[in-house]
Amino acid sequence: MLKRKKHFMNSTLSIPCIFSCALDSFLEIASCLFLPHLSDLTVRNEFTELLFNTCSRYVESPENSRLLEEIREPIWAYLREQCPSFSARDSNACFSQIFEEKTLGKLTSDEMNIFSSLRTFQSFCETCQKDVVLNSSILVNFVTRSALEKCKLNYNSWPQFVSSVQTQPGKLKCPDCETPTYEPVLTSTAHSKFVFIEFAPELMNVIKLYENISVGQAEYKLKGMVRSYNKHFTCAVFVQGKWTYFDDLCTSVKEFTGLAALTKQFKQGWFFFNI
Ligand SMILES: [Zn+2]
Repeated sequence: MLKRKKHFMNSTLSIPCIFSCALDSFLEIASCLFLPHLSDLTVRNEFTELLFNTCSRYVESPENSRLLEEIREPIWAYLREQCPSFSARDSNACFSQIFEEKTLGKLTSDEMNIFSSLRTFQSFCETCQKDVVLNSSILVNFVTRSALEKCKLNYNSWPQFVSSVQTQPGKLKCPDCETPTYEPVLTSTAHSKFVFIEFAPELMNVIKLYENISVGQAEYKLKGMVRSYNKHFTCAVFVQGKWTYFDDLCTSVKEFTGLAALTKQFKQGWFFFNI
């Protein structure tokens, strides 16, 4: 049986106060989950091309920490420039900043299909007396206690919250006169390959983690998690029917057959669901 032991080495080991574990966790997730989809693209933007090249080199590279540092550097430089929380190179990196338009860049429709849910809403502006069509996309789903309370939902109903955020627009304004439009109607949804969820820290210890969630008409399965705990980032991915847990301060990976055993290790984090 092939056991994947390759991992990045946290720069903190060689250069004190330089934390690379957030980036390393991101690259593990990206190599395992996004790379197959990135490979299928014919056109890639600056970031997705960089990510594709980095992940391709990473999965092909031998276990060599010098080489891994070299492979990692271009994407780390990019993130330091684009994501404010990564620029300090400390343990305060906010993972979800990678999944913002500023970082991901302008996405082609094929790239959108991977990372971003596209929704089209139709409404009517009484002032302008015309139909209003609005397209919107969602890259990151934030789940906070106050947002759940606003929807009158219990914290364990968070999948329902994510689904309603993705399918209900709330109030919309006319782009011409800025007055609120009539109740908008969802006319089309393009489900992304991945749904990226960030939970507020206050929810992490109370929520139930689901292996499957429904978003609109689509079923998603939990495939990846990144944890930030005690100023250290680790991650887990679900490949070949098993959860593999990566901690770049440990020399080998840990494997878990079930989510329950694994989630004992996760106190706070970011979650990837795959369609
Ligand atoms: Zn109007």
